[in-house]
Formats: sequence, structure tokens, C-alpha cells
Amino acid sequence: LDIPENPIVPIIHGDGIGTDVGPAAQKVLNAAAEATGREIAWMRVYAGESGRERYDENLPDDTVNAIDEFRVAIKGPLTTPVGAGFRSLNVALRQTLDFYANVRPTYYLDGVPSPMKAPEEMDMVTFRENTEDVYAGIEWEAGTDEVEQVREFVEDEMGFDETMHDGPIGIGIKPITEFGSKRLVRKAIDYAIEHDRDTVTLVHKGNIMKFTEGQFGDWGMEVAEEEYPDEEVFAAPDSLWETQDEVDIPEDAVMVEERLADAMLQWMQLRTDEFDVLAMPNLNGDYLSDAAGAQIGGLGIAPGANFGDARVLAEPVHGSAPKRAGQNMANPTAMILSGRLMFDYMGWDEAADLVRDAVEETISSGKVTYDLERQLDDAEKLGTEEYAEEIVA
Ligand code: NAD
Repeated sequence: LDIPENPIVPIIHGDGIGTDVGPAAQKVLNAAAEATGREIAWMRVYAGESGRERYDENLPDDTVNAIDEFRVAIKGPLTTPVGAGFRSLNVALRQTLDFYANVRPTYYLDGVPSPMKAPEEMDMVTFRENTEDVYAGIEWEAGTDEVEQVREFVEDEMGFDETMHDGPIGIGIKPITEFGSKRLVRKAIDYAIEHDRDTVTLVHKGNIMKFTEGQFGDWGMEVAEEEYPDEEVFAAPDSLWETQDEVDIPEDAVMVEERLADAMLQWMQLRTDEFDVLAMPNLNGDYLSDAAGAQIGGLGIAPGANFGDARVLAEPVHGSAPKRAGQNMANPTAMILSGRLMFDYMGWDEAADLVRDAVEETISSGKVTYDLERQLDDAEKLGTEEYAEEIVA
């Protein structure tokens, strides 16, 4: 991205603990920028509760336009009110600006409690398709005309007869497009090339869902085969069924391979060090990235970002945790490391490294927020602000 020297960066602090972690993250990111000769001109923008207060709207146009125009932005969590009629604000933001890839790095920070035997081996980045799949929300409630129209067909296909079943059926549609699959896989491959990663793994369930998940794999492999030179990207044939140990991969090339989603959840834990960049349809990405995050410290730590074409919106994985809101308790690490991901996207490598090192040094010195403190022996519990100040120091 061609980023100005002192860019304007829109920031939404967010609802609930967003009011704690937003300002704390800003402080740390400012310090890292300053220490590396940069400066960020923050532009506070509003959504969720703060949007309703100032604009009487959940997602004001000013906010969407600012992110659209300035192209690099960061947000805290937004509460999705329970009940009918509320579309998730997060989904609305992602759709309006076509952030089609949800990106989550999962890497181990020294000192973080983890259930894994060798958590330090985990260093993956997941690319989850963000606009399609069963999450497109195309579904019909049992009893509606739409369901009744296809009911007979569905029952036939499933081999039902009336002795087994004449009750309600809900129906959903799983759209996976060539366009959506290919642009997601392209983003993942480009990322792998830029960051000197060895592999891109396409994770799908194509053995069962051939024309949706299977196509995702085929289209992804097509991108690898047709759009990059062999020395740069090597599409591993038959990687679903055979190990790739024997395959002759050109030196320095990124290998693109496929794995079945269920097996992948195992491999991720048993052979953690084999995986680098993962690309997958929406539902697989949701489950897999949460499971990966839990291995290296969970929600308080897990950063993320939404990538579009020439646009990024960084955001922590966690929600607004209303129970902890406004108490100077929440862990701002996820929001801070989301800022790091934003720096990385901007090409501010030095500032990005500094953020990671400072966070790691703070945690490994035993100075942590309540969520980690209760899992560690001999740790010192700090409030959100004090923890951020420690990172800055
Ligand atoms: P949550 O992530 O808010 O909380 C789950 C648990 O994790 C809670 O026990 C909470 O205390 C803990 N936790 C989360 N973040 C933490 C942090 N930074 N430090 C310490 N502890 C932390 O998930 P939820 O309770 O399912 O959702 C609450 C609200 O957030 C809902 O309205 C939901 O829609 C929204 N949400 C928003 C986003 C987003 O904005 N991207 C993501 C997920 C959930």
C-alpha cells in the first residue's frame, strides 16, 4: 500500500471493553510509531453504542466513508444486540466495504499459558473467506412456502419415508463461487510470498461437499498453477491423499497443498510446525481459527484483520465482554497486536516488530491482566492501563 508518511487512521474504540482496550492500544501503537520515526494522525469514528449516541445510527456513513477513504483502520468489538431485526454490525461493515478475507495470525508469545506441549511451534496465519458459504445467511424457516416447495425433493434425496419423518425441516444454501474462492486464495498466496512462508494449505471438506468445498480446493489449486511461475508457487499434486515428503519442490517456492478440514484440526495440534498459511471457506475458517487461537492464549491475546483490495480493517477476535466493561480489567493485547498487523500491512515493519517484542517482554516478565494472571503462578495482575504503560516502557 502507498501509505502517506503520517497517515490518518480511523479508529473505532468499540462497545463494552472496547472503551478500555481501544485507548490502551492507541497508547502502545503511538509509542511504537514514535520510536521508529513515524506518526499516526488518529481519527476517532463511531459505531455501535457511540454511533447511536452521536448520530442516532449504529453504523454512520461518516464511519464507513472514513474507512473507505483512508484505507487503513482499526476497530474494537461491537455488541450485536440480541433479538430480531439487528444485523451484526461487524458483518455489515465487512460487507459494505467488501473485506473479503478475515486474517488471523496465531503465534506463541513467550510466557502465555497454553494447553499445548510445544506451543512455541505454532506460527500460522489463517485466511478465512468472509462473504460466502453458509454464512451468506440464505436460509428458510421450517414451514415457509420456500421449504414446502422443495420438501419432497429433499426427502427423496435423503431417503426419508413418512414412517420416519414428517416434521419440520429448515433449509439453508451454501454458495461458494469461483470468484470468491480465487481472490481469497490469491491473497493468501501473495501474503505467503511476501512473508517468506513455505506453504499455503487449502482447508476444505471436498470429499463430502464436492461442488462447494471441493470446488474451493480445485479453484485454489488453479490459482496456484496458472497465475504464478513454478519457481515462485508450486501446486502440490495429490496432496490430499499423499504426504509431500517425496515431492521435489523448487527451492524458495511456496508449496500450495490441500487438507481435509476435520483432519486439519488434528494435524494443527499434532504437527503444528508443518503449517504456515491456511486458506479456507467461511465456516471452516471460523471454527479452525478459534481453535488455533485457544492453543496460544485465547481471546485476550488473539489479533485479527479484515483484508479487502487495498484496504485493511484490523480488529481483535474477541467481543465486547460487557461483564468486564469499564473496569480497567480487560486484556488489551488482542487489540494491540491487531494494530501490529495493521503496521505490518502498511509496511511499518520496525514498528510492528517493536510492538510484538514489547508485548512479549511484558508478558514473560509476569506482568499480565487478570485473564492470564489466574492461569499463571507468580504473575502480577495489572489493570488495562497499567499493563499498556508497562508495554510502552
Ligand atoms: P466475548 O469475546 O465478548 O467474551 C467471551 C469471554 O471472553 C468472556 O468471558 C470475556 O470476559 C472474555 N474476554 C473476551 N475478551 C477479553 C479480553 N480482551 N480480556 C479479558 N477477557 C476477555 O464474547 P461474547 O460474550 O460471546 O460476546 C459479547 C458481545 O460481543 C456480543 O454482543 C457479540 O455479538 C459481540 N462480539 C463482537 C465481535 C466483534 O466485534 N468482532 C466478536 C465477537 C463477539
